[in-house]
Amino acid sequence: MNTLESVYSAATVWLLVGSQHLYGPEALKQVDANGKKVADGFNASGNLSLKVVAQPVLTTGEEISAVIAKANADASCAGVITWMHTFSPAKMWSPGLLGLRKPMLHLHTQMARDLPWATIDMDYMNLHQSAHGDREFGYICSRLGIARKIVAGHWGEAGTHARIDAWMRAVAALHDQKKLVVARIGDNMRRVAVTDGDKVEAEAVFGYRVDGYGVGDVVRHVNEAADAAINSLCGEYAGAYSLAAGLEKGGEKHESLRDAARIELGLRAFLAEVGADAFTDTFENLHGLKQLPGIAAQRLMADGFGFGAEGDWKTAALVRAMKVMGHGLAGGTSFMEDYTYHFEPGRERVLGAHMLEICPTIATGKPACECHPLGIGGKEDPVRLVFDAPAGPALNASMVDMGGQMRLIINEVDAVEPDADLPNLPVARAVWVPRPDFRTGLEEWIRAGGAHHTGYSYSVTTEMLVDFAEAAGIECVVIGD
Ligand code: MN
Repeated sequence: MNTLESVYSAATVWLLVGSQHLYGPEALKQVDANGKKVADGFNASGNLSLKVVAQPVLTTGEEISAVIAKANADASCAGVITWMHTFSPAKMWSPGLLGLRKPMLHLHTQMARDLPWATIDMDYMNLHQSAHGDREFGYICSRLGIARKIVAGHWGEAGTHARIDAWMRAVAALHDQKKLVVARIGDNMRRVAVTDGDKVEAEAVFGYRVDGYGVGDVVRHVNEAADAAINSLCGEYAGAYSLAAGLEKGGEKHESLRDAARIELGLRAFLAEVGADAFTDTFENLHGLKQLPGIAAQRLMADGFGFGAEGDWKTAALVRAMKVMGHGLAGGTSFMEDYTYHFEPGRERVLGAHMLEICPTIATGKPACECHPLGIGGKEDPVRLVFDAPAGPALNASMVDMGGQMRLIINEVDAVEPDADLPNLPVARAVWVPRPDFRTGLEEWIRAGGAHHTGYSYSVTTEMLVDFAEAAGIECVVIGD
């Protein structure tokens, strides 16, 4: 598996600093040194998720095109940050920008925070020209239709870092999607529209592969799971969760727990074999599996795997992207489904859940590990983790295929405590109120074509997702305040 840590440690962002030869070699030396200082400052700040690598100052069209070609070819380069320290005539940038294949952030900053009022002279003015140099650069980007995030602010300021970091998390996710394999175990749920889509289009846009497998490919690994590993995983379950009565060793349902552990071990071995960091399954294609994977899917998500139920490969890839974006931040991310409503006037809520597969990174407290019948699928009772999700700001995101155009739909929500205990609900759940209000949130989500499956997150922000959509060149709809 490409762990979430490894996604960040393997990627860099290049800092491209623009200038020209008008100011003489001494000034260019200064500009070059300042580029390195800014990169060092970023890397030392502790506020940015990706390492910034300053490239030598750019003064000619040939240098610009060459460094962009190098960035395109560099497997570790996840994106470029551009900054015009001085004026840098933008016709020089045009051929390079037209060939740029990496996401770009235009940083509109300046070396010194404060004007040196008492000493400022024309030498200083000539060296610190981003106020107009970045406008020249912005014009050519707008004229050529170059997608980029624009961040204005001093490079040493935490608020500037926060905006750059949102973009870094988005481009880290996009960088990861280019290597991502989504293993599709079984097909999409029969006749369902929104969970399906154009896999050729998705690969062209995001770079990920969706490879189909028969469930037998997983069953082989499940059957090969060793007794010692099953025993040890059951012990891990007992240590990490509150086991329901009967699931414990010697209990009447202990064999179900062992079956669940066997499925988790088999799934992990299968995903490792095919190199997949995201997967789907479906209750309609379970031949040879005793249970629909419940606790297995939940724990794999907690480790950073993307997941989509009922063959929903777009959501599996999106959940993986959101796992990358939210890495290291407070609050978790899960696969989610808008399940059922509370329509009490003035206290309307959505109850989100799934048949089984909600990620325990969004659990409040210690999850309960339980085994209950599943109404559909005709398999043995699956083991699952049951918990509530916390109150607080969160969001739902849905990736849909509109036919020749992928669309990301984001709804900011306020998660709330359930009104009461839910003693008969045998699945993990979250309760939330959509923004800007219940009615508008629902109506606009449905108008935009948003799915019932989402990535639900307390850590990923709207800004990260918008940056992700813009860097990928897809449509983005935000429903919020
Ligand atoms: Mn579903």
